[in-house]
Amino acid sequence: MSEVDKQSVTDVVGAPDGPRPVGERWVERYSGAVMDTFGPPSRVLVRGEGAYVWDADGARYLDLLAGIAVNALGHGHPTLTAAISAQLGTLGHVSNFFGTPPQIALAERLLDLAAAPEGSRVFFTNSGAEANEAAFKMARRNVGDGERRRVIAVEGAFHGRTMGALALTSKTAYREPFEPLPGGVEFVPFGDLDALRAAFAHGGIAAMFVEPVQGEAGVRRHPEGYLSLARELTREHGALLVLDEVQTGAGRTGHWFAFQDPEIGEGIMPDVVTLAKGLGGGFPVGAVLAIGQDAATLVGRGQHGTTFGGNPVAAAAALATIGVLERDDLLAHVRAVGSRWRHALAATGNPLVVDVRGAGFLLAVQLREPVAADLAAAALAAGFIVNPVAPDAIRLAPPLILSDEQADAFTTFLAGYQPALPSQEA
Ligand SMILES: *Cc1c(COP(=O)(O)O)cnc(C)c1O
Repeated sequence: MSEVDKQSVTDVVGAPDGPRPVGERWVERYSGAVMDTFGPPSRVLVRGEGAYVWDADGARYLDLLAGIAVNALGHGHPTLTAAISAQLGTLGHVSNFFGTPPQIALAERLLDLAAAPEGSRVFFTNSGAEANEAAFKMARRNVGDGERRRVIAVEGAFHGRTMGALALTSKTAYREPFEPLPGGVEFVPFGDLDALRAAFAHGGIAAMFVEPVQGEAGVRRHPEGYLSLARELTREHGALLVLDEVQTGAGRTGHWFAFQDPEIGEGIMPDVVTLAKGLGGGFPVGAVLAIGQDAATLVGRGQHGTTFGGNPVAAAAALATIGVLERDDLLAHVRAVGSRWRHALAATGNPLVVDVRGAGFLLAVQLREPVAADLAAAALAAGFIVNPVAPDAIRLAPPLILSDEQADAFTTFLAGYQPALPSQEA
């Protein structure tokens, strides 16, 4: 921490106003200065190492959410820290009037990992929503004979909170306060192959956006054959198949991209892939992969832009993250530990657990009762960060370095968990 920041911390830590927990005072300051968008934070965190974080009062937590599927290498990874520091000290930002070696190398690396054919190209962003915005603009340019105006998205989909990404997001509570949203988007019911065929039967479709596994909807996998059908219909109609891999990509499922998991992707190759979350190991960076020359040339010179997107520090962070995932064979680790953990979580004998779904290190524990918020609070008190992704489901998206022993610790907690009685809550 810099001297400037230390001073700001000392303002609170050193405040001689009694024995109140330090975190409580931080939350008070948070509420007085930070917009209420997210509500008051449950803890103020000050430090992280590996799969653990510490709060302002010194309590340690096993981080099984990783900043929402972001911190692929955990916290404070020395290789990532060194790569970011070295790049920042060499060349930190130049704008897209110029190219930089990390930016160019990362674009090449991503196309290589995706096994993208000749003619494919990358556009860099700073976030997932921005990556989807860029993909949305590509869809708008995919006009064909001028009749392609419709964009298909799936019920339950989450693609981000900016206006274009929000137009592709199905949740009414997120959308309604901000209407009118960009038009032309239609939602098809989740998992319904016939409804998808019917939607395409009318023609005029520019693109279909789909998450290989729906993250925010509760880690939902599409039924067998769904993504293959989406691929078949989009190809037939000259529509783009856009896979939103913002949450599932960059190793999260034990593959570089979820579509490369044969059980999820069924062997398909998309036209566009959007990435962010885990890509930079915690440093903000997003990317749009346009697969093949047709997709890569939809948005032409001067038709899109970004000041920060593709900056060398973000690119160095992503290159270092990918490098460590590869060097330490972490994709195989995620597949092995993830699969073992999934079965262990399902076999705790706790009658509250209905099943455990997902892939790799993107899992959800389905509960028989809507007690996910209570479970997450109890877990936090016991030193585990988990996410109540739905009233009756817990999401687990830990750092990809999570060990068997660390995973087991939460399994043991889950085995013994009992919801607080309503009378105790009141
Ligand atoms: C998180 C997420 C986004 C939005 O990413 P931001 O970086 O928060 O803008 C988009 N799509 C999916 C599938 C996500 O999980």
